[in-house]
Amino acid sequence: MAKNISNTQKPEKPFKILLIPGHDNEVWGAEYGNRKEADMNLVLATKIYNILKEDKRFKVFITRDGNGYTKDFSDYFSAYKEDIISFEKNAKEKMVGNITDGNFVRKKNAPHHRVSSNIALRLYGFNKWANENNIDAMVHIHFNDYPRANNWVIGKYKGFVMYIPDQQLSNYKGSESLAKKIFMELHKKYPISNFLPEKKGIVTDQQLIAIGANGTLDASVRSVLIEYGYIYEKIFRNNKTRSQFYKDAANLTVKGLENYFFGK
Ligand SMILES: [Zn+2]
Repeated sequence: MAKNISNTQKPEKPFKILLIPGHDNEVWGAEYGNRKEADMNLVLATKIYNILKEDKRFKVFITRDGNGYTKDFSDYFSAYKEDIISFEKNAKEKMVGNITDGNFVRKKNAPHHRVSSNIALRLYGFNKWANENNIDAMVHIHFNDYPRANNWVIGKYKGFVMYIPDQQLSNYKGSESLAKKIFMELHKKYPISNFLPEKKGIVTDQQLIAIGANGTLDASVRSVLIEYGYIYEKIFRNNKTRSQFYKDAANLTVKGLENYFFGK
């Protein structure tokens, strides 16, 4: 896949990876007991970051760390807020036009939590930044949940799923190939989600901003959103198995990235 680097050649430009641990300290996504999804996303994303950072073939970025959004991103949001607002607005208008003209067909998507306009703006901001900085791949790191009467009760679904852009979006092809490589690695160890809309393991979606809704990611910016499992699963409830999970899942995700970019 893509550029091959052999030992005799001079290394080419590193592939640029942007890691996005889902949610943040203010809006933390799913929650089970005293565990918050945003914190789990950050632990796993940081492990992936630390592995990729040591590999000269990659240049890796992350949107937040233990102190909140990293400087690149907090600066970007304060300096370019207005530009991000127009970026989102223009993309949505263009999409409405495409739908009206019959150039884009709306489909039903798997259910997702609705995000506030504030969070939406951040996600559009990541996309705008990724386009401007020629990011090769964005990896969104999440843990799953679904609406239940009582969030303290263990739910019925388990397993991982990956979301990729709809076929009609320009970054579909690259994202799909990348997703397949990561999927192959994760599936060696973990089961696919048993929630019906997720049972294929790799699911296309039109509405997730993270993977380029409204055509907001350039064709060269692959984007995958990984839900590594349901937050209440047994493997995450126990400290020891959870730590082991972070370690294994980080290694498998990196293996998938390597296999995609360096052909295996
Ligand atoms: Zn999430």
